[in-house]
Amino acid sequence: MALIVQKYGGTSVGTVERIQNVANRVKKSRDAGDQVVVVVSAMSGETNRLIGLANDISSAPNPREMDVLVTTGEQVTIALLSMALQEIGCDARSYTGGQVHILTDNAHGKARITDIDDARVRADLDAGRVVVVAGFQGVDEDRNITTLGRGGSDTTAVAMAAALKADECQIFTDVDGVYTTDPRVEPKARKLDRITFEEMLEMASLGSKVLQIRSVEFAGKYNVPLRVLSSFEDGGEGTLITFEEDGVEAAKISGIAFNRDEAKLTIRGVPDQPGVAYKILGPIGAANIEVDMIVQNISNDDTTDFTFTVNRGEYKKAHKILTETANTLGAREVVGDDAIVKVSLVGVGMRSHAGIASQMFECLSKENINIQMISTSEIKISVVIDEKYLELGVRALHKAFGLDEA
Ligand code: ADP
Ligand code: ASP
Ligand code: MG
Repeated sequence: MALIVQKYGGTSVGTVERIQNVANRVKKSRDAGDQVVVVVSAMSGETNRLIGLANDISSAPNPREMDVLVTTGEQVTIALLSMALQEIGCDARSYTGGQVHILTDNAHGKARITDIDDARVRADLDAGRVVVVAGFQGVDEDRNITTLGRGGSDTTAVAMAAALKADECQIFTDVDGVYTTDPRVEPKARKLDRITFEEMLEMASLGSKVLQIRSVEFAGKYNVPLRVLSSFEDGGEGTLITFEEDGVEAAKISGIAFNRDEAKLTIRGVPDQPGVAYKILGPIGAANIEVDMIVQNISNDDTTDFTFTVNRGEYKKAHKILTETANTLGAREVVGDDAIVKVSLVGVGMRSHAGIASQMFECLSKENINIQMISTSEIKISVVIDEKYLELGVRALHKAFGLDEA
């Protein structure tokens, strides 16, 4: 008998019929003799709808109340799925994150799981029940409801699997696995049978939202076998996230990730002195704005230009802070652009191959796409380009690196 954690995302539980479909799928695993814990997201669109309501009332909704609000979406689906399971003769019980006792820190909206009490869940499993757990939510030490960040149900599932030492954590979604790039942008994308944790982590952190970054981190750290599968198709093996295999030569490039959620800011003509980078980024960090890529130009005339990227949603706030900094530092001007995207090549095989960067730049230049910023690591190369070239750039790179489906 195996213990399986299955997670179903928003689209997979988007209607009553789909919830019934999920119930049938869960029952099949149960009938095959497995113990099953199911983690569900809110019905698709629901979390956004709730956030919209809050924004209609306040321009800066209270983070604690925001979490109380958005967690209701998952509370609906756990109840409905449990009812659907009971209807087909499968004993089931639902739990909110707080009821399980998924303990988190108190960072509302982006809380981290610190501990999970698995006693109640185990007791139910031992009694032959399916346990249905609300994704995305937990509770802090003072019993405030918290959430784990957008897409956080993936992390709930992996954390439950780690706590229960499950045999596998299965992420059921609306695609049948992890692809070489988002199949919605490049229909020629190929499904990968396997991808390493390291690559999956890069893909996720560079914008492939098929798995939340933290879920991949968690799975790697606690050795949770993780698989991405379709909730709409039967019989596929999906994509298994694995540890790097010895002996097998890794593909040069395993995938292309992109992030539309980007904006860049440049402060021009700052005095080129020690401490300037700190003076520019200090106030940005103090405002809790995450900075991604950073470029500082070589100085001419004792001044320099300094460019960095932030999340598009924080662009206006960052622009305002940077303008204040420019005034204090006596910089020439602040310019920005919130219509940019980041496109990245990812692959552990890159380590042993030179010339990937130049091949990437050549491909983009052939399409007349201007590269605005570049950053590299051992297993990825990222470029910032104008958002209007996203599709063109991704498809051209996909082809140039031999990723297109034959
Ligand atoms: P869920 O609601 O099930 O959590 P998500 O929308 O969060 O689903 O994630 C699935 C989506 O991720 C797919 O529909 C697909 O458009 C997108 N995606 C982005 N990059 C990839 C990739 N490399 N492989 C597969 N899907 C990807
Ligand atoms: N419902 C949450 C969201 O939309 C969590 C999730 O779907 O994983 O972000
Ligand atoms: Mg998701």
